[in-house]
Amino acid sequence: MSLRSIYGHDPLLHRLEGAIASGRFPQAALLVGPPGVGKQRLALWIATALLCDTHGGAGCGECESCRMAGRLAHPDLHWFLPILRPKASDRVKQVEETQTLIGEAVAERRNKPLYGPPDALASHPLASIRLLHRVVGLTPFRGSRKVVILGDAERLVVQEASQEAANALLKVLEEPPNNTTLILTVVKRAGLLPTVRSRLVPIRVPRVPDDAVRAFLRREPNPPLDSDTVERRVALAQGSIGRAIWPAGDEQAAARNAEALLSAIRAGPARWSATALAQPPWAARGGFAAMLDELAIVLRREIADGAERGGGGDGGGGGGDTGRLRHRLDAVQRVEEARASAGGNVNPQLTLAALAHELEPLV
Ligand SMILES: [Zn+2]
Repeated sequence: MSLRSIYGHDPLLHRLEGAIASGRFPQAALLVGPPGVGKQRLALWIATALLCDTHGGAGCGECESCRMAGRLAHPDLHWFLPILRPKASDRVKQVEETQTLIGEAVAERRNKPLYGPPDALASHPLASIRLLHRVVGLTPFRGSRKVVILGDAERLVVQEASQEAANALLKVLEEPPNNTTLILTVVKRAGLLPTVRSRLVPIRVPRVPDDAVRAFLRREPNPPLDSDTVERRVALAQGSIGRAIWPAGDEQAAARNAEALLSAIRAGPARWSATALAQPPWAARGGFAAMLDELAIVLRREIADGAERGGGGDGGGGGGDTGRLRHRLDAVQRVEEARASAGGNVNPQLTLAALAHELEPLV
């Protein structure tokens, strides 16, 4: 199976094509953008273009190199994905095991191009950085260059104070061989150590416009989605195709829980603290995240309804409505923040109690 098409990044692709055609694409780049907007897919597009036998800017899609890259089987395209920590204790065996684990992860994405977020525990362990160091030193197999992609780079264990991993990576970034292009992807630049960040040229990857998300949802999922589900997913996605294809849990249950939470918040602290305590403390994290997604949708819908009714539209006499809209916007932001932390190591009960306390005056 080959890589799926890219949806909704035409202006960026156009700029990248120009940079690649004129040889201005940086040797070490950092794709930065929200989760699920297609950063690694874009990195693969860039790699394909850089490796294309015709050197025309964008990959031609027809030469042998493009076809191999499209099947994720190009010997000079190295894609590092987060993996679960290797079990071997011996250093050499660890690197071998890492190579196998990464190979399996890439094979899984080859078979299932509409992949979800990596396992919460997956990372780029020290052995991955050692492997990367080795790969960067290789002579290209086919042409004159190779491309190394490091996806979800915030999962580098460098962040956990492993000085050796930091040094190994820095060495690669400081003096990448001329025949090597490095592309890292990250949600926030702050997710990387400053020493690593400063050596990379940032490229912003924006959210995908709703029309492109809709086009994606109509064409790509198999089995196809009905049109109601497509519209719900477009609203849920907020410009992230990843979120549109991998909603965090059971959507209907999440919607019910979100409505229940909102009415509990509106009923006051006694009600919402009971709701927060009723959250399963550690299990069902996906359901918790899904509930927060739905809560944001309900609030956004209220904002849209308020705007339609003319809240603040003419600027005359709508002070109350305008204030309410501003509160709702603040509330959505708080929910988004809680949602971002829900994927990490947080306690859902505490998160929900803190969120309810913040939302109470806003909703
Ligand atoms: Zn080509």
